[in-house]
Amino acid sequence: MTKLNQTKRDMGIYLHIPFCKEKCIYCDFPSYQGLEAYYDSYIEALEGEIRLLQVEEPWLRTLPIQTFYIGGGTPNVLSLKQWKKLLGILAKYFVYTPSMEWTVEMNPGLSEKQFALLQLWKEAGINRISLGIQTFNNKQLAFLHRGHTKQDVYHTVETLLKVGIKNISGDLIYGLPGQSLVDWQTQLGQIVELPLTHVSVYGLQLEEGTLLERMVKSGSIKLADEDTLDTMYDLMCSYLPSKGFERYEISNFARPGYESQHNSRYWQYKEYIGFGAGSHGFYKPSLNSSYMTSMENSGAEVMDEKDDSIKERMRKTVNFDSSYIRYGNHPYVVPYINKVRQGMLPQVETVAIDSKRFEEDFCFLALRMLREGLQEEAFYLATGKELSSVFGQTLDELLTKGLLFYQEGRYCLTPLGAKEGNYVFSQFIR
Ligand code: SF4
Repeated sequence: MTKLNQTKRDMGIYLHIPFCKEKCIYCDFPSYQGLEAYYDSYIEALEGEIRLLQVEEPWLRTLPIQTFYIGGGTPNVLSLKQWKKLLGILAKYFVYTPSMEWTVEMNPGLSEKQFALLQLWKEAGINRISLGIQTFNNKQLAFLHRGHTKQDVYHTVETLLKVGIKNISGDLIYGLPGQSLVDWQTQLGQIVELPLTHVSVYGLQLEEGTLLERMVKSGSIKLADEDTLDTMYDLMCSYLPSKGFERYEISNFARPGYESQHNSRYWQYKEYIGFGAGSHGFYKPSLNSSYMTSMENSGAEVMDEKDDSIKERMRKTVNFDSSYIRYGNHPYVVPYINKVRQGMLPQVETVAIDSKRFEEDFCFLALRMLREGLQEEAFYLATGKELSSVFGQTLDELLTKGLLFYQEGRYCLTPLGAKEGNYVFSQFIR
């Protein structure tokens, strides 16, 4: 069995900028267009939320942060002045580790002024960019309302390298309406030609309430069929590794040493705190926080925003035996701002993670990591239980079906298991 070290507590921070120039037709993230008038008050509210949570959890003022991720939305819609303000706030409230991975998501397409923004990012310590490329096909980009072109992608990557930000990840989507296999091969060919360190690839999803969903329902467009999606998936799984991008997670490929440290936290079931509208967090509240001091074993597990006080919410929490909580913030910008202005954390959902849920989540998140997989010792260290005594039967069945393999104390997905990931993960829910 591989020996794992018990590590000190470490923390990742996610901060959400929920603004976009234009809403993409497939997107159901908390991101909104036309809210420029709220950018300044949103930044103020972010500061307010950080302050409120640090009153609740004072360790958050001193614990060095290992990974910082500013996502969106489109964080680069904020002006240089607004970014200066935001970076000043973060420097005031957080302690960064010297080696902190600091990622910002951005969309391609830079105005003259944004060269100065990238320089500011570089000077502040931002060292990784996640670029929403999605496709190099200009017709598809226009159809998706992405608001950028293939030429913008090249210009942005070139400019990032010029300012000295070299750790760049690109996102691609496959299964776009009308996309042929030849086109998908072209997209893969073009992304590996860029000097990227990391590629994330997602199949197009039809999300409720999106323009894409309305178009599909009305019959005006057709999505790719299952066979085509399957072939596209296989192509990506063989092509990207052949060009030096190892597949380390179901949807993520990296050059050696460039795996996303922040996203790996989610799969390793490590703590993170989210700030901003629509953000989520997962962490262990301190013993003297109002979450813990008010803990009583009665009531509902999921609370809604009508219960304003955290004490009230946690008083209603059941099965608080793993002592982790997961929370979600209000997804809309104005209620988020208003809540913070009233001196309240903007959380609308708080879930106590009981030990049963903890064990389940731990397993299927770990399995997403194709190399590390689900390690017996890691499970024991996290839960105090033997993996075989909790999930022995499930693991045996998945091994028999050829969806997992076992090696040196760890269970990993086989290629078939990675393809059938959702089925495999569902088997851990008891
Ligand atoms: S840029 Fe990203 S967050 Fe914004 S609408 Fe498009 S997909 Fe959604």
